[in-house]
Amino acid sequence: MKAWVFDRPGHIEFRDVAKPILVEPYGAVLEPVLISPCSSDAHTVFGGSTPKFENHVLGHECVARVVEVASGVREFSPGEIVAVPAITPDWRAVAIQEGNDRHAEEHFSGHRLGRTRPGVFAEYFAIPDSDTTLAKIPGGVSLEQALMAVDVMTTGFTGAEAADIKTGDIVCVIGIGPVGLMAIAAAVHLGAARVIAVGSRPVCVELAKRYGATDVIDYHGGDIAAQVLSMTNGIGPDSVIIAGGGDEVFTQAVDMVRYGIGVISNVNYYGGTGNLGFPKFSGGRGMAGKTVRTELAKGGRARIQRMLNMIRYGRVDPTPLITHRMKGLESIPAALSLMNEKPRDLIKTSVEV
Ligand code: NDP
Ligand code: ZN
Repeated sequence: MKAWVFDRPGHIEFRDVAKPILVEPYGAVLEPVLISPCSSDAHTVFGGSTPKFENHVLGHECVARVVEVASGVREFSPGEIVAVPAITPDWRAVAIQEGNDRHAEEHFSGHRLGRTRPGVFAEYFAIPDSDTTLAKIPGGVSLEQALMAVDVMTTGFTGAEAADIKTGDIVCVIGIGPVGLMAIAAAVHLGAARVIAVGSRPVCVELAKRYGATDVIDYHGGDIAAQVLSMTNGIGPDSVIIAGGGDEVFTQAVDMVRYGIGVISNVNYYGGTGNLGFPKFSGGRGMAGKTVRTELAKGGRARIQRMLNMIRYGRVDPTPLITHRMKGLESIPAALSLMNEKPRDLIKTSVEV
């Protein structure tokens, strides 16, 4: 079969690779129907990373058709189109009994597709456990909506959930790409009264308002912490969700979040090595009562079915996140480059295979 192989930094190649083998007794082989390259695929290819294994196929966001199921699979059959979570923990790992599903066996063990197992930029891919992983797409939910649920929607919701939002809170969402936009929608559903969004591109600003942002500020207009503090009488937001920006946003989040009960919930990716700056003064010299959480998206079947229910019952419609639609597996490099370059009119791409 053909697949896009990450063969060296900055480059993927369309190559013949072995078709995936069905994993007994619970696995499945699937063929992608709709794929969306993620910002993190772009970080991997263009951010200086190197391939982790031979024929390293990237990609972890797709809706796919089941081609073959192993003998122990109870709830899925060949032909069915399903949502494939980006995060696919091994639900048999012992640490899951301690509530640690995303880093159970090793760091990031929940992120397998495209990271430790071949991903979805291919004609076929395999998963080891179908019944606990794949999500049924309910009637009334489009394939594009399901595609947006598997990663960006669950990540935005994860960010908002980790922010401990209470009714009437003031929440700042830094970054209004697809993840930040879904974090805004989630913050509103969790009870935020005021949502201050930080971003600049008009296509994102317009959607941020549609998903419930009450204020939008531009980070090009000076220190965002100073802007947010002046908008909140110097008190700051009850929580800050970080979904975009470079290392400086972490420091800005500590600067702005409320003393005593403030929570910073980070789902942002910081490239490279070194440290993020924790400011001594706004950190209360270590006594400010500010909490920092760092989260990988929640995944697995039950989680994605919850996201799909939010769509099904009309609470959130992620369709407007898709601004660029392409056709054919051969469009993957173009879609990936768009995710890297972020032209002004882009939020997410989808590739119909
Ligand atoms: P995008 O690149 O599409 O969006 C980033 C946003 O951040 C844009 O709105 C951009 O503004 C804004 N931004 C850029 N620089 C700054 C700055 N200095 N200060 C404030 N805002 C800034 O990213 P995605 O929405 O796709 O993903 C967001 C992050 O989440 C990425 O780091 C991604 O890797 C990570 N991620 C994490 C996951 C997880 O499991 N934790 C899962 C998926 C993604 P502008 O309007 O100017 O473009
Ligand atoms: Zn992703």
